[in-house]
Amino acid sequence: MLHVGINGYGTIGKRVADAVREQPDMTVHGVAKTSPDHVAESAVAAGYPLYVAGGSGVGEFETAGIAVEGTVDDMVAESDVVVDATPGGVGEQNRPLYEDHDTPALFQGAEDASVAETSFNARANYAEAIGEEYVRVVSCNTTGLSRLLAPLYETYGVERARATLVRRGGDPDQYCRGPINDILPDPVSLPSHHGPDVQTVFPDLSIHTAGLKVPATLMHVHSLNISLQGDPTTEAVRDLLADEDRIFLVPEGLGLDGPGALKEFARDAGRPRGDIWENCVWAESIHVEDGELSLFQGIHQESDVVPENVDALRAVAELADAEESMATTNETLGMGI
Ligand code: NAD
Repeated sequence: MLHVGINGYGTIGKRVADAVREQPDMTVHGVAKTSPDHVAESAVAAGYPLYVAGGSGVGEFETAGIAVEGTVDDMVAESDVVVDATPGGVGEQNRPLYEDHDTPALFQGAEDASVAETSFNARANYAEAIGEEYVRVVSCNTTGLSRLLAPLYETYGVERARATLVRRGGDPDQYCRGPINDILPDPVSLPSHHGPDVQTVFPDLSIHTAGLKVPATLMHVHSLNISLQGDPTTEAVRDLLADEDRIFLVPEGLGLDGPGALKEFARDAGRPRGDIWENCVWAESIHVEDGELSLFQGIHQESDVVPENVDALRAVAELADAEESMATTNETLGMGI
């Protein structure tokens, strides 16, 4: 049984903890929190041993009546692997802590790629992370793009990808983020940094990206144009993508017109927190003409990286190959909406 410590129990950390708990070959050793707030109470209520990270100290948690097992240092020492799900830049500062205890670690997408030996997407490059000590699970956008590009790359070859990423301003609990009434090119300079991030997974891919931020919290929406080396039919590409376990082809005619309807659909389906781990590719949008594929996809930023973290844990701990790991993760989470 792989003992997994989770350092940083926010949007990603809490979801990764719940996903790890569902796995037959791993267990949550503990989660580390910086402050004794309602999220710390939820972690205890969920049955996760709680460890204290950062400035607050064990005393503040005890004063708040929240029982703790020890400090983050203890958790890292006791765990087989740590998932660092702290805000961007903190993971890099934490790396010496993991090195001191000789504990392998996963980092998340906001860290610079240099924080780890490998930038990871299960569908695209699982094998590169097998047995590595430090692995970065790429961002929500890069995960969404990698999952889509991998089968196209393998089946037809990709000459060039162009993506416009319409990004949510913040997650639902981030009341300080924005814009609240604007549409911002972000970054204004082109191409955006998202393309080079995809190249950490596909080093030879020619990709050009542009990003915008909008007043929404539910999902990102990508508009893609991909020049394929082959010239398949629209139906062939639709069938190819329909075969991917982590792509949900949004059917015509159900009124699933945007992120609001998709999130409602996920909640009605009983998904935890209304999460959608799959890329949501609108089937009607898929169009191929003279080898140029265009489509729209929605990406649930709070959850698409969760199955990838589970697979990255198995790769680092050498518990399974890509196919076996993804099949286990998909089955235990209930992939396929
Ligand atoms: P978050 O702010 O929701 O959660 C981070 C948690 O870490 C917070 O609870 C914070 O209090 C805690 N923290 C801060 N400093 C800490 C420290 N020194 N030690 C331990 N905990 C500490 O952030 P998030 O959205 O979960 O993002 C975490 C990482 O996941 C980032 O790299 C981010 O880019 C990546 N990611 C986020 C999303 C998303 O949309 N939210 C999607 C994919 C990837």
